[in-house]
Amino acid sequence: MAEKSKHSSRQKSVIDVSDFENFLEEYTSRLEAQVARESRFYRMMADAMPQIVWTADVNGKADYFNKRWFEFTGLTEAESLHSGWLSIVHAEDLKRVNNAWSTSIKNGSPYEIEARLKERQKGSYKWFLVRALPGSEGGKKIIKWFGTCTDIDEHKKNQANKDEFIAITSHELKTPLTSIKAFNQVVEMQLKKIHHSDALDITEKMSLQIDRLNDLINDLLDISLLDTGKLKLNKTRFDFDEFVFSAVENMRLINPNYHLKIQGRSGKKIFADRSRLEQVIINLVSNAIKYSPDSKKVLINLDKDSSNVYAHIKDYGIGIAKADQAKIFERFYRVERPLPEAASGFGLGLYIANEVLSKQKGRLWVESNLGKGSTFSFTLPAIKGS
Ligand code: ADP
Repeated sequence: MAEKSKHSSRQKSVIDVSDFENFLEEYTSRLEAQVARESRFYRMMADAMPQIVWTADVNGKADYFNKRWFEFTGLTEAESLHSGWLSIVHAEDLKRVNNAWSTSIKNGSPYEIEARLKERQKGSYKWFLVRALPGSEGGKKIIKWFGTCTDIDEHKKNQANKDEFIAITSHELKTPLTSIKAFNQVVEMQLKKIHHSDALDITEKMSLQIDRLNDLINDLLDISLLDTGKLKLNKTRFDFDEFVFSAVENMRLINPNYHLKIQGRSGKKIFADRSRLEQVIINLVSNAIKYSPDSKKVLINLDKDSSNVYAHIKDYGIGIAKADQAKIFERFYRVERPLPEAASGFGLGLYIANEVLSKQKGRLWVESNLGKGSTFSFTLPAIKGS
């Protein structure tokens, strides 16, 4: 009896194994079919997108492109894979593209760059925003890169047209304005001779408005110089404290009702573009005045550390909300709020100041409390041993 039961149990286990093998085979093939279907589905989805979609392996070698890529570039798959895609990047953008891609692969950081890619039929280039994000397993080890190329050619052309428009109009506006200023001065002189104080009052007001217009046009001219990389710096060696004193003294003459107080000393020399730096100080102090309708006090604090000089410009004005503090350094950004009547502007001053400073290895930042005031600070490298 015991023998019989042993025999039947062995027979049963043989049947089980073969059943299991069949099941496994069927399960595997169903799974493979499902994976193939899903993969086809995702490819169809990627092909349906107006954007170029691509993937790359962990070493940055491209291993997939959607249909849009082949339509645009006219390359074959073999010509595109690995590093083949680099062949259609504009020669002037190639180094930038390569460097940024290598950095992203090395650090696992998101990739984002604007570059020109060659269109097959036309043989001409179009601007694209190329982006890629790393895909990781368990949020740690990167296993793949998922990328897109978005056509931004229209946007780039509009931007170039706008830049050209700004450059031309500001240049064209400058000439008549200079003549108006000169005529106004002549009229002023004539009126002084005949002691016509009422009319002199008007020419003085005109002169102020002409200066304001002149400042706005100069900002626009600087923007176009920055955009085209033509803003040249004329660096010399000078004493930082003496420079700030003389710049602030000029501001005092224009704003006699304000108390502009300088505290502290850096005792250092710097190597910088003096007139561009004066423009930065003028901008920060004018803003401190412009955005402080109820206070007449501006404090300018000078300081240093082992290798840098610092200037902190503190006002007791309307202040800036946290959300706006990073944005005010962007071009054309102005905080939306009811402003004092004199607070006109284009939202360019801080952008220009920031660019001018970073071109000289400096930095500009703000600390502010809404309703209480702001402190704008900048730093520049000091001359070693000065
Ligand atoms: P503009 O003064 O011509 O608008 P800026 O680039 O100099 O351009 O400044 C950008 C914006 O930052 C201003 O519109 C203003 O809202 C804000 N801002 C700048 N300086 C100050 C300040 N000292 N206090 C309060 N707000 C300021």
